[in-house]
Amino acid sequence: MTPASPALNGYQKGKCFYCFREISIDKENSADFADVDHFFPHILRQCDSEKPINGVANLVLACTDCNRGVGGKFSQLPSVDLLERLSNRNEYLITSHHPLRETLIVQTGNTVAKRKNYLQDAYNCSTLYFGVKSKWQPKPQGKATF
Ligand SMILES: [Zn+2]
Repeated sequence: MTPASPALNGYQKGKCFYCFREISIDKENSADFADVDHFFPHILRQCDSEKPINGVANLVLACTDCNRGVGGKFSQLPSVDLLERLSNRNEYLITSHHPLRETLIVQTGNTVAKRKNYLQDAYNCSTLYFGVKSKWQPKPQGKATF
């Protein structure tokens, strides 16, 4: 749980970012309690120490299965489709004048093109370390809502 959780959940509306399973951010001891997951794993630091691994642009709410269950993401890199989903999420928070808007702009760029490049650079760099096995994507566990 981080201070960003309610804001992230405002977008995800109680669904796992990766598989759309129902999650909650209220009761820490409940089975569906959300993990705050780093989309780009910590190894990205080896590519670029400037990338805000802990920045909100890189944070999503995930079910425990996706984050650390059997077949979970752990330190793998998500698929290109999921990268697109993250980009759309960040753009949504920016265009909707969300409180996190300024933070996202400072962290990732002040134009759509810069922000897309920012994520693509991080992705390309991570791919150099992770190779082809890195394209993690879970089976959907619910209806896609974002
Ligand atoms: Zn999930």
